[in-house]
Amino acid sequence: MRVLISGAAGFLGSNLTDLILADGYEVIGVDNFITGKRENLAHLSSNPRFKLIEHEVIQPLKIDGAIDRVFHLASPATTVGYYKNQIATLKANSFGTCNMLDLALEKSARFLVASTSEIYGEAAKSPQPETYWGFVNPIGLRSIYDEAKRFSETCTMAYHRERGADTRIIRMFNTYGPRMDPHDGRVVTTFIRQALTHQPITVYGDGTQARSLCYVSDTLSGLRLAMDSDFHEPINVGNPDLVTIVQLAREILELIPDSKSKIAFATKPDYDPRILKPDLMRARQVLGWKPTISRKEGLSNLIEDFRNRGVGVSPAR
Ligand code: NAD
Ligand code: UDP
Repeated sequence: MRVLISGAAGFLGSNLTDLILADGYEVIGVDNFITGKRENLAHLSSNPRFKLIEHEVIQPLKIDGAIDRVFHLASPATTVGYYKNQIATLKANSFGTCNMLDLALEKSARFLVASTSEIYGEAAKSPQPETYWGFVNPIGLRSIYDEAKRFSETCTMAYHRERGADTRIIRMFNTYGPRMDPHDGRVVTTFIRQALTHQPITVYGDGTQARSLCYVSDTLSGLRLAMDSDFHEPINVGNPDLVTIVQLAREILELIPDSKSKIAFATKPDYDPRILKPDLMRARQVLGWKPTISRKEGLSNLIEDFRNRGVGVSPAR
């Protein structure tokens, strides 16, 4: 099989590339490096089953030969990333999604789009089932990402209904793990970087807002199962083990006992959802999937990955 992954140089895209190559398939990675990094794919430079195409997905893409599957992950994905690249985020999830769907249709390939729990916005219920339509201010700062992803889902269903595209939609909840950018501004990366470098841990607001954090191998196994399924409506993939942000800060400090960091409360940004927690009934029923990695194990792996990449390690004398 020949699999195309847009956003292949990113955190999830590069880990997905490794997984699909390990399955024995060929991978064509597509990226414009707006938030991704070449070093995430450096280990594949001499792999004959991997090809990297530097391309901007808001432009149509022509590929020679067959493509069997398209995973569309290309989009800035963090508040820092999408505030800095507002229009690029909107275009990656509109023109970009249409272009990847056109390619999938041309090649009769299966298509999977990476959507997000952020489409639920400031959700009025928790946990959020796929049948909940969300609550998003269309002109709020977060709407750049939330509405872009909502459009991306709409577009995917339109291609499915009107043109018969073979599509899947996965709503991923906060995912973390090795290869994350220590400066991406996400809570897990920020707290671990701050703890390893003895900086104050910046908890926004009173820290009672809560997230459920899913380890990367769990999220990607959900994506792979969804691609193999024949279900076209959205499926939540995430870990239901909810943690408040202040509790997460404490857990990270416990896992880095030599850290001299202390918690420092800072202003909470607007439109920051209070609770994001997946209802996983559909993932269980349709995919037979549930997450398996505990937060302690996952956070320990990411801390080790950061240390291996030199975060917080004093230079050798
Ligand atoms: P990331 O920023 O590490 O990866 C995104 C990749 O897409 C980067 O390599 C970037 O350079 C590339 N890209 C962006 N716009 C592009 C364009 N126009 N053309 C070509 N390449 C482009 O982020 P990530 O965490 O790996 O997220 C990947 C996908 O998963 C995104 O669509 C994101 O919205 C979605 N998602 C991620 C999470 C999470 O917690 N990590 C949760 C929900 C959804
Ligand atoms: N957060 C925080 N301090 C930080 C970064 C984030 O308290 O340095 C909070 C943020 O306000 C949010 C939560 O952690 O409530 C998760 O933030 P992240 O950007 O990782 O994910 P998202 O809000 O997009 O789910």
